[in-house]
Amino acid sequence: MSKTTSKEIPYKIYLEEHEMPDSWYNVRADMKNKPAPLLNPGTLKPLTLEEMSGIFCEELCRQELDDATPYFKIPEEIKNFYKMYRPSPLVRAYCLEQKLQTPAKIYYKFEGNNTSGSHKLNSAIAQAYYAKNQGLKGVTTETGAGQWGTALSMACAYLGLDCQVYMVKCSYEQKPFRREVMRTYGANVTPSPSGTTKVGRKILEEFPGTTGSLGCAISEAVEAATSQEGYRYVLGSVLTQVLLHQSVIGLESKIAMDKYGIKPDLIIGCAGGGSNLGGLISPFMGEKLRGEADYRFIAVEPASCPSLTRGKYVYDFCDTGKVCPLAKMYTLGSSFIPAPNHAGGLRYHGMSSVLSQLYADGYMEAVSVEQTAVFKAAEEFARVEGILPAPESSHAIKVAIDEALKCKETGEEKTILFGLTGTGYFDMMAYERFHNGEMTDYIPSEEDLAKGFAGIPRFPGNEI
Ligand SMILES: *Cc1c(COP(=O)(O)O)cnc(C)c1O
Repeated sequence: MSKTTSKEIPYKIYLEEHEMPDSWYNVRADMKNKPAPLLNPGTLKPLTLEEMSGIFCEELCRQELDDATPYFKIPEEIKNFYKMYRPSPLVRAYCLEQKLQTPAKIYYKFEGNNTSGSHKLNSAIAQAYYAKNQGLKGVTTETGAGQWGTALSMACAYLGLDCQVYMVKCSYEQKPFRREVMRTYGANVTPSPSGTTKVGRKILEEFPGTTGSLGCAISEAVEAATSQEGYRYVLGSVLTQVLLHQSVIGLESKIAMDKYGIKPDLIIGCAGGGSNLGGLISPFMGEKLRGEADYRFIAVEPASCPSLTRGKYVYDFCDTGKVCPLAKMYTLGSSFIPAPNHAGGLRYHGMSSVLSQLYADGYMEAVSVEQTAVFKAAEEFARVEGILPAPESSHAIKVAIDEALKCKETGEEKTILFGLTGTGYFDMMAYERFHNGEMTDYIPSEEDLAKGFAGIPRFPGNEI
């Protein structure tokens, strides 16, 4: 072990509870080019607070629309809930470094130490808290792989809110235990598309036998929220409010690193809708935007759902049923569904508008990786570091390993930080396929992508 600082760096850096951040950080405050506003799909005008608050909780709308306030105080009740599973450890991957024989120093921020098994709880408790504060009866949402639904049901159970989850049908069938965890926490789980909503019935008519998609489950959840008194819709990723809540990941990482005089050269995260990556990089990106420090940021996405690396940067629908506002983002088109052999999460067609803008402005890089390589990296990591990683998180592991191996070639002692967003206990069917040699890669062709792009709305200023 080489030491470049005076303090010996432990395998795990755990902050004390009193060292946790008091506020979330809003990276938009430091962006010169602000992310484009959400648009009302009817008028093509920026969505107002009034329009938005019919769908989302009021305080969350305020957070969504505020691109100037750098810090939002974390309410005491949310902080107390955070203490059930935070601070999360920042781990120095000594065992992985040794295995790779790399001079790179690898760190990961581990967000899987809670029952929901991922970082999603950081935003779930915040969103449930604001819904409760507004006097609502409950919330509705969608879930794909199931982590968000699980996190939200935990948060709602804690606060005594009703929780209605529309779960993408293929996950509902493939992950019955995930469903039962949600029901244990009192959530009502419906496979989507379902016959319980107008939009669900319409989608079923048009595509009988469809196994569903996130975009479709979102449409159903929004309809369920707007058609029941005292309900609002909440979303686990993509939205800027979610990145704000997830900044707790980056803030804790930074506090821990500063304590030991560590400065990362490279920060890597997997990107589905962008919430964990946005949260992890936010405080570091803030320094870069203010010209105080420089870092390289890498978003890692699946080759089978390559929104940043192959998508268009335009306004698009956020959901299949086209009931949500339009967002400017890197998108594959709201009808895009990854090929059936795609195993993990990270299947959303779009990307956070904040990360999209940062990527368009050259502040962040993006790479795509194939799933068999991802599972190989996951297995290698599990065998030396012990943690069984979620397939989503393993996208970041794969690129962290690649970068560490580059350091081995060049002899550079780079410091790499990556986000280990969760555990993979509910993904053993995918692991099984990998172990049996049955996992395949599918990279969408230009024609596949063209079908998705065809559904992007056209209007002046939104040419493709
Ligand atoms: C949901 C999820 C992701 C991807 O979502 P982002 O919003 O892009 O962070 C990544 N890892 C895990 C474990 C997840 O549950």
